[in-house]
Amino acid sequence: MQVRALAMSVGLVALLGTAQAREIPGGKGPAASDVPMAEHAARVVDYTLRATLDPALHTVHGEGSIAWTNVSSQPVTQLWMHLYLNAFKNQSSVFMRAPIGGFRGSTLPKEWGTIDVRKLTWNDGATQHDLWAKVQLRRGTDEDETDAAIPLPRAVAPGETIALDVVWDDKLPSIVERTGFDGSFHMIAQWFPKLAKIEQDGTFAHFPFQHLGEFYADYGKYDVTLDVPEAFIVGATGVVTESRVEAGRRIERHVQDDIHDFAWTAWDEFQTRKETIDGVACTILYPPGYEGHAERELATMRFALPHYGARYGKYPYPLLTLVHPPASAPEAGGMEYPTLITTGGGSYIVNGVNLIELVTIHEFGHQYFYGLIASHETQWPFMDEGLNSFAEAEAMAAWKGPSNFIDLLGVSVGDSEGHAERARHFAHDDRVAQPAYAFGTGTSYGALVYSRTATILETLRRVYGEEAMQKTMGAYARRFRFQHPVPRDLVETFQREMGNEAGEVLRDALFDKGWIDFKVEAISSHAVRVAAGIFDRDGKRATTPPDRGSSGKYEGWVLVNRRGTLHLPVEVELISEDGARTRVPWDGSTDSIRIPYAGTSALRAAVVDPDQRVLLDEDPENDFATAAGHSGGGAPRTLERSTYWAELVLGAIAP
Ligand SMILES: [Zn+2]
Repeated sequence: MQVRALAMSVGLVALLGTAQAREIPGGKGPAASDVPMAEHAARVVDYTLRATLDPALHTVHGEGSIAWTNVSSQPVTQLWMHLYLNAFKNQSSVFMRAPIGGFRGSTLPKEWGTIDVRKLTWNDGATQHDLWAKVQLRRGTDEDETDAAIPLPRAVAPGETIALDVVWDDKLPSIVERTGFDGSFHMIAQWFPKLAKIEQDGTFAHFPFQHLGEFYADYGKYDVTLDVPEAFIVGATGVVTESRVEAGRRIERHVQDDIHDFAWTAWDEFQTRKETIDGVACTILYPPGYEGHAERELATMRFALPHYGARYGKYPYPLLTLVHPPASAPEAGGMEYPTLITTGGGSYIVNGVNLIELVTIHEFGHQYFYGLIASHETQWPFMDEGLNSFAEAEAMAAWKGPSNFIDLLGVSVGDSEGHAERARHFAHDDRVAQPAYAFGTGTSYGALVYSRTATILETLRRVYGEEAMQKTMGAYARRFRFQHPVPRDLVETFQREMGNEAGEVLRDALFDKGWIDFKVEAISSHAVRVAAGIFDRDGKRATTPPDRGSSGKYEGWVLVNRRGTLHLPVEVELISEDGARTRVPWDGSTDSIRIPYAGTSALRAAVVDPDQRVLLDEDPENDFATAAGHSGGGAPRTLERSTYWAELVLGAIAP
């Protein structure tokens, strides 16, 4: 989903730290690029659909067939089907009555949306079973109609494939969330009767359309013929295999294998730019007057396609369509579907504020963390939004350096630092690893699922090194391509590739609100005086008088505390009056460490984690301490929170 909320709440962090890779402790085993990667998904459900758009009435008439295979180990006696457009049918839907605000817009649609199934039959050899006659649209007294139970007249055996015929009608809502129409612009997502994902044990992972979570489905082949008025430009999932104009209608057939959803858009004002990037046919659909934005989106893809391909395995589809919605329909922006993403940003975003690039790269990243690695978004949203936010920040920094988010009028913000700042305030509120609907507010959901996950992973990258991180995330992305991994798969991959300690940090931070705060508690040093007293040296006894003056040497100590539950290795830098700097590594295994100091001048200051590798650190302002009598001026790190600036700059971007 989109990242606008991130932009609104990010604080500015000046003087950004840059991570230098450290040696790899877990550097055993093959490189990530050697990890075998599936070429195709197991085919569970195939949709062959035809959809006819009436752009004046904002309706879609659909019909077609669904071939579904029971890939579980158990006989199945009932199907579950998602009818998500009914989320916009009335205010009693789970979606509309969600108390959660503060993330995506929460206004009511000006026009309601519905999906009405007219026919659902099972052609079982000689018999046509009317399945819709027995549908249970609602659960008890709950009026939500987005999650339908469909009893079957007989059990479907494990391994058996059944053929369903379906006819339905959509009334699209006015766009308030993700899908709908605005004038003649139509963004058509979550629009067809869609079977819930079957699990190995024969149960279906079915759920109502949630405000903050929706994606989880089986892979298959989509063969969808779209029928729109001739004047409309279409963008859709999948390769165009047929295109013709017939009696004033434009008819396009889109076919794609190895995907788990299908979305499309149609508008009679779309402008088009096309470019083949890294072997992928990219199309930008954008409103008139947005040529500059289209160019920035293309430039983003020129970087992102090869970058993500190297890190997480080559993008496997032959095409990618980027839809920039009209300014009057911003809620259609910032969404992800297989081979089709929606970006966004008003016409006034200036160069130096990389919001268009950031949103584009984020939504493209979902082709991996959602599309190719199809975790359960409602149950474990951090597994796609969080991993994807890490990948977004990593890519932005690799592309544009430390000031990769904002570099304007002396204001400098990195995406990773923005995530860290946003996440810091919510670290103790909720677990990161929990279902989307369990978060108290949309704000904490956004801060923890997106930003805290990104900060945890960025911390591991900085502490254990770029190479170890690429190897670990690369192995995860390749091993679970076209799979549906769960959190254990992720944690085990980190344990195996990056080492047990890194795996522990990841698990504790995700599941147990793990936190850490390094603090320079105290520093002390004194001049070493020539010792007084009786000394036996070289067979002679000598008594030295008191106060023989300074020896020219200084000694002392620095006390550093590790507050919190996470254990991470760190460095402590000791800074002397004469400018000498010494770095001391600490494995962070204990609660505190007293580091001895010896030098030729007094100890002036000490800083823990001078390279800012532990981005998770809860209070960066106590990472530095000076000796008594010294001000903090000239501190090696100045952390500046300019929330006012953030509001001013980002508020103008994303009203
Ligand atoms: Zn997202």
